[in-house]
Amino acid sequence: MIRLTNPIVEMDGDEMARIIWGLIKERLIFPYIELNIRYFDLGIKNRDITEDMVTLEAAQAIKECGVGVKCATITPNAMRVKEYNLKKEWKSPNATIREILDGTVFRKPVLVRNIPPLVRRWKKPIIVGRHAYGDIYKSVEMKVPSSGVAELRFISQERIETEVIHRFHAPGIVMAIHNIDDSIRNFARSCINYALDEGVDIWFGAKDTISKIYHGRFRDIFSEEIQLREKDLRERGINYRYMLIDDAVAQVMKSEGGMLWACMNYDGDVMSDMIASGFGSLGLMTSVLVSPDGKFEYEAAHGTVTRHYYEYLKGNPTSTNPVASIFAWTGAIKKRAEIDKVEDAKRFALTLEDVTLKTIESGIMTKDLVDFAEPRPDRFALTEEFIDAIKLRLENALKEW
Ligand code: NAP
Ligand code: MG
Repeated sequence: MIRLTNPIVEMDGDEMARIIWGLIKERLIFPYIELNIRYFDLGIKNRDITEDMVTLEAAQAIKECGVGVKCATITPNAMRVKEYNLKKEWKSPNATIREILDGTVFRKPVLVRNIPPLVRRWKKPIIVGRHAYGDIYKSVEMKVPSSGVAELRFISQERIETEVIHRFHAPGIVMAIHNIDDSIRNFARSCINYALDEGVDIWFGAKDTISKIYHGRFRDIFSEEIQLREKDLRERGINYRYMLIDDAVAQVMKSEGGMLWACMNYDGDVMSDMIASGFGSLGLMTSVLVSPDGKFEYEAAHGTVTRHYYEYLKGNPTSTNPVASIFAWTGAIKKRAEIDKVEDAKRFALTLEDVTLKTIESGIMTKDLVDFAEPRPDRFALTEEFIDAIKLRLENALKEW
């Protein structure tokens, strides 16, 4: 039996994602590799019972172990509070973990030969790295009810600085956003670490022609950090390109892919959804949180797939794509194996990835992929049927070791 002795932090989740998570562990992982799992149940009920302490503990554990793997979880809103009878609208676990690790999220699509991207020129994955602190996500905003002056003011022991935002002569709106040098720097560092890890170029776009101070600061910090790692980047043949964000968007569409696209918070939010749908299904999009000091947390980019779960609860058959969750597990196993230098564990993870792709290439796939596949298969596989088809190939591949 293959064995990884150092721990991996596992975070369980909710709804249909939790169902496929269980199937993946039971059928594709645990029978073949002995892992030292530190398990945290981030399912909504347990977060409610523990008053969300379990999320903090899990994040702390990732800090200690260096490698984590997470199932999709519900971020409760008012509707969910009612549905699950919760004490309150607990914060998004992903946001909590991201804050504790101060990490950047990288989303990378899994490419399958018979599922061509909607954008014909794309041949390699486009990875989006999203800065996940500040900007409009930590904004303060106001409705301006009447005429008056809105000011931006900074106060410290030494000084008071004031800028007039606008002299209003009629009602309107106003918003202030901020960011922190250290956070931008850590973002740049995480991007550089990721690019060195994957051997891909880095593109970064902002609007520094318009926002000379705010966006200009991002551009400057990014290029300072690039300068510091210039030798490493050069040795790996990795190029850095800074562009205006609109140019970056156009260049990405015209490119073959194969780069890390570093994005400011809002750009990353919007563009990662465009890239994801351009590559096919959310079920093929993986996600990894990388901290500036090199901790990795792997997950699928999709949510808990609630609609499928309601069908599942009614006893109806489902066809939910487990590929992104499988790749979350293989990502974590590969990383653990790499750090600990355990060759056969890494080989197992690569084999599982390979047989997963080959299963789809043989025409066996879940419903979300059928419409994109060339040629289009006559039928789609149900959730368990698909996982079992992968298992069959995995068994055969392992026999040949
Ligand atoms: P979602 O769970 O990603 O699902 C949206 C739709 O996308 C599904 O209804 C399904 O479309 C399709 N889809 C997503 N993943 C799929 C898969 N693996 N296989 C097949 N189809 C897939 O997003 P949501 O419905 O907006 O959110 C549901 C819950 O997930 C929410 O409570 C949200 O808070 C949570 N969420 C968690 C995370 C996370 O933990 N990282 C991320 C996003 C959302 P069809 O119904 O058309 O088949
Ligand atoms: Mg978005």
